[in-house]
Amino acid sequence: MITANARAVFSPEGPFQPTTIERRELQPHDVLIEIKYAGICHSDIHTARGEWGPVQYPLVPGHEIAGIVRQVGSAVTKYAVGDRVGVGCMVDSCGECENCRKGEEQYCLNGHTGTYAAIDRYGQYTQGGYSTHIVVTEDFVVRIPDSIELDVAAPLLCAGITTYSPLRHWGAAPGKKVAVVGFGGLGHMAVKIAHAMGAEVTVLSQTLKKKEDGLRLGADHYYATSDPQTFEKLAGTFDLIVNTVSAQIDINAYLSLLALDGTLVNVGAPAEPLPVQVFSLIPHRRSFAGSMIGGIRETQEMLDFCAEHSITPEIEVISANQIDEAWERVLASDVRYRFVIDISTMGKE
Ligand code: NAP
Ligand code: ZN
Repeated sequence: MITANARAVFSPEGPFQPTTIERRELQPHDVLIEIKYAGICHSDIHTARGEWGPVQYPLVPGHEIAGIVRQVGSAVTKYAVGDRVGVGCMVDSCGECENCRKGEEQYCLNGHTGTYAAIDRYGQYTQGGYSTHIVVTEDFVVRIPDSIELDVAAPLLCAGITTYSPLRHWGAAPGKKVAVVGFGGLGHMAVKIAHAMGAEVTVLSQTLKKKEDGLRLGADHYYATSDPQTFEKLAGTFDLIVNTVSAQIDINAYLSLLALDGTLVNVGAPAEPLPVQVFSLIPHRRSFAGSMIGGIRETQEMLDFCAEHSITPEIEVISANQIDEAWERVLASDVRYRFVIDISTMGKE
């Protein structure tokens, strides 16, 4: 076994405490990664607080992982010691079902293995990236392009791919009007990526507080959803709306902003339902959809796209002692725009 330093919550309320966890001995296809940076995703909070269902404690969250390969198993072919790599929201899947064979492992028909709070094929409860080391099978590891520093690479592993995948799937491109609801971790990545894909991008945020940032990071327009005139003005406008909001919102108001054949795709995952009136959809043949992260091949494609277009997230690097504080700020929509834990501060408490 390999012992890693980690930060865990021991109950839904937290707070984080230093602990150690055991990583499995390397199997033939495994790589051992020394984690350098881990991003903080709102999903970490939903999960740890039991909002998506019960979890086991202690729980080490973290599924935006960037680090260096330190050891490889005897049959590893894709990675070597010293490689700069990333791990996102999943660490395994069956590899055999129709969806896995298509490279859509996130939709594995037998259920992919989450990076934390899941039972893996060895019967172990998975623990995530708020830790110094992780062991992952090479097929669920991606390569971080040389031009992307490891601190800004980390959030791409979830916030990046979760927005890239639906933007690609629903064809964000020149001539398309794309709206992004919620300008947080996922939202700001959606803006950067949709802009790089050539779409006309509008941010729909609760207030205009972050408008300057939005326009600087690639949005063409920025509106406050607290202003009812926004909904009148933009009715029937968008080809695609990406909703990244982590809480319940009046989804029908947002559906009314779709043009003919437009799609509103929900990546935000509040525990509460989002009730849809069918008459929000029927008159303009609108669609209401969901999307979960992206496959491994697509995650590599996203990283290469970000390198090519010089896209990186806006981050605030924190030490391991600041995780509780950072979570509070995420919950207060006070994140500019992703917290990233410097893992070198771990174990030095
Ligand atoms: P985040 O950084 O907290 O961003 C969420 C944004 O939503 C906030 O910045 C805020 O934007 C807006 N918001 C928050 N509360 C709101 C409310 N009550 N009413 C209206 N707007 C509100 O979170 P994140 O890390 O980007 O994650 C966003 C959501 O996506 C979470 O639910 C997360 O679990 C989910 N997620 C899903 C996937 C997937 O695969 N589908 C992957 C990762 C994350 P403004 O301040 O601009 O209004
Ligand atoms: Zn995430």
